[in-house]
Amino acid sequence: STPAPVGSPDAAHEVLQRVFGYDSFRGDQQEIISHVVAGGDALVLMPTGGGKSLCYQIPALVRDGVGVVISPLIALMQDQVDTLNALGVRAGFLNSTQMPHERQEVEKAFLSGELDLLYLAPERLRVEATVRLLDRGKISLFAIDEAHCVAQWGHDFRPDYLALSELHERWPDIPRVALTATATPATHDEIAGRLNLVDAKHFVASFDRPNIQYRIEGKQDPKKQLLRLLREEHPDDAGIVYCLSRASVEKTAEFLVQSGITALPYHAGLDARTRAENQSRFLREDGVVMVATIAFGMGIDKPDVRFVAHLDLPKSVEGYYQETGRAGRDGLPSTAWLAYGLQDVVQQRKMIDGSEGDQAHRRRLSAHVDAMLALCETVECRRVQLLAYFGEKGAPCGNCDTCLAPPASWDGTIAAQKLLSTVFRLAKERRQKFGAGQVIDILRGKKTANVIKFDHDTLSVFGVGADLDDNAWRGVVRQLLAQGLLAVEGEYGTLALTEASGEVLGQRREVMLRREPERTRAKSSGGSG
Ligand code: ADP
Ligand code: ZN
Repeated sequence: STPAPVGSPDAAHEVLQRVFGYDSFRGDQQEIISHVVAGGDALVLMPTGGGKSLCYQIPALVRDGVGVVISPLIALMQDQVDTLNALGVRAGFLNSTQMPHERQEVEKAFLSGELDLLYLAPERLRVEATVRLLDRGKISLFAIDEAHCVAQWGHDFRPDYLALSELHERWPDIPRVALTATATPATHDEIAGRLNLVDAKHFVASFDRPNIQYRIEGKQDPKKQLLRLLREEHPDDAGIVYCLSRASVEKTAEFLVQSGITALPYHAGLDARTRAENQSRFLREDGVVMVATIAFGMGIDKPDVRFVAHLDLPKSVEGYYQETGRAGRDGLPSTAWLAYGLQDVVQQRKMIDGSEGDQAHRRRLSAHVDAMLALCETVECRRVQLLAYFGEKGAPCGNCDTCLAPPASWDGTIAAQKLLSTVFRLAKERRQKFGAGQVIDILRGKKTANVIKFDHDTLSVFGVGADLDDNAWRGVVRQLLAQGLLAVEGEYGTLALTEASGEVLGQRREVMLRREPERTRAKSSGGSG
């Protein structure tokens, strides 16, 4: 058949079928593609696996000239280009890993119009020679992938991305499409502002990932809890285990290997060869468990990741969403499992207090942790709360732990009063600061060495909380933190009262708490073994 005329909606559809071998567009793809083909700017927010790539690849093929794709994922460029070449798309890349002659070949192909797509690392655009090169060729569009890298508060922040705001000044007539899988409504605006994309049309897909089962439980014996998840629910499945520090990545990977699981470590402290090797084993072999810091995962396209486990509290809901989103790209049932404890909160506070930047910056980081904590302690559907964070409304999902096993709630007013009184009492001791452990020991009436040393067994609150066990008290502390009725500060995680604590102590406010389960294990929605 004769190809459809360039620019008509049929041209895009024809490319979809002929080049990519798909029957129909998904979600907003068609609308986005015709908007960009017509020369409009676009900001595309689509969950991982939603099909963002076609949103710039097809317009680049339909429009005249070369589509320039700016991507921070240098390690994946070769793969992306190979995949496109195999489909018959003429693609090349320019980054710092190339030999000069390889670069020259790509530049020549670009200038003579023999390329459909050119992938560029953002830092290349700061090189004047690259800008001059682009000036001499014909560009069909700019695609800015992983656009959240421009957002100051995302953990992938890249100063190089800020320079991308100049694309528009230099090439005002070339359409730009920015794409990301992570963003709250506030972040959309930040991205649009920083990239100078004020007139761009926003395309926001639903962020729901219905095949992912969300579960969050308290840390008791995290390694054992993790092993149970792997052995009982995901034997021989591929998955990712996220840890906060390099040291805990190493220890956790070692522990899993000793337990007979094929686990590999990944963090920025490993040499490049080991990292590349582990990544490629994870991608190519079946059933490999990657134990990693958040340095791992961006741009990884492995469809059958069956679980993502977090052994530490993520720093933000956006990070959590992005990391868990690496599970189940193939649409099959998958698990997002998180274990977190009070110590995580203390550690995050410490990191925030010690972080560079001004007061406003630290306040923002705190707000991120607070939102994450609220998600952990909610008695409502996790998915409803998660989607609400991204500005979407939803109904209870039936596929998260709180839907599958609704947590019992109880009137924790008296327990909260006991705990807050103890915190108040300890706050008066100037010579020493105490964390949650000491507070709980006092409440439970334990004569530990530290309790005796500071005469805490003589306090009127000593032993008034013997009716609850350690685990239950830790739950009370976490939930009071999540409700803003308690604060944790300083290097030792000292508990402190907040303004709202007074309402509880003054009998003006009731506190409803969720009962700490003995052992959380929601039943699987099936299929994942
Ligand atoms: P994202 O970049 O949003 O994470 P990708 O662009 O990598 O997603 O697409 C995810 C997967 O879905 C890829 O394997 C891609 O080939 C496939 N895909 C994208 N669009 C379609 C479509 N219209 N029909 C069928 N498969 C598609
Ligand atoms: Zn739910």
